[in-house]
Amino acid sequence: MTQTPSVVWIVGASRGIGAAAAAAFFQAGYAVALSARSLDACRSVAERLDPSGTRARAYRADVADADMVAEAASAVLGDFGRLDVLINCAGVIEPIARFGKAAPAAWARAIQINLVGAYAAIHAALPALRDSQGAVINVSSGAAGNPLEGWSAYCAGKAGLAMLTRSIALEEGPGGIRAFGFRPGVVDTEMQVAIRASGINRVSQLRREDLAPPEEPARFMVWLASGAGDDLSGEEIDVRDPDLRQRAGLPALG
Ligand code: NAP
Repeated sequence: MTQTPSVVWIVGASRGIGAAAAAAFFQAGYAVALSARSLDACRSVAERLDPSGTRARAYRADVADADMVAEAASAVLGDFGRLDVLINCAGVIEPIARFGKAAPAAWARAIQINLVGAYAAIHAALPALRDSQGAVINVSSGAAGNPLEGWSAYCAGKAGLAMLTRSIALEEGPGGIRAFGFRPGVVDTEMQVAIRASGINRVSQLRREDLAPPEEPARFMVWLASGAGDDLSGEEIDVRDPDLRQRAGLPALG
């Protein structure tokens, strides 16, 4: 008898860390649902993993639109029948601007995507995650704990996301759901291209060759979802933490 695979829904999977996570979870045996605003990009990631569409499928969902997120959740459940892991990876760095320079509407849009969007996905996925006693991984950032010049919207959104992680662990932990805030390090993605171009703070000065490949945080998230890190539920976890790297089987940093 064939066993039904565990199912992961990666929100923000069209490129970067989310796309690498899709590949890592697929290789670990999961069925993978990928969503983002750009359906074509999600489709090409999914088709590279599984041209048959049996174990990798793409969905369009702008996390700023809660109805669209709910429709995507229904479609994922309709296609795969269960959900074991939700990864909130959708994020934007814009507006990159010092106080007084960013338009309030642009600031609010960042919070809508980086914080409210994660809530929308959790809300839509919660019944299925309760059924599976599943896990939520909210992709966080060092910016959740430290202000950086020009990033007030991003820092505030990620700080709010960290509290969302704690809140899920508090309310849903007794029912078996685990929730993690995961800080992926400084990773070589399109977001870092925009950051380097801004030149606004110390992160923008990092050289591309010093950034981590997206496959590294992806691998760590597979470990986090496995149950081996359940004692960390509710916490902010940094991929650069030496003890946790050892637990997750990642090489020590030089
Ligand atoms: P990226 O390459 O720019 O990817 C961002 C992803 O988010 C894309 O798949 C994008 O897809 C999706 N997205 C953006 N807005 C969205 C929306 N409104 N609705 C749905 N999806 C949306 O950046 P990344 O570096 O991989 O970032 C992934 C996550 O890691 C983000 O949460 C980011 O804050 C976090 N992070 C990154 C770093 C780093 O160094 N790269 C460090 C710390 C934390 P579409 O544009 O197709 O919608």
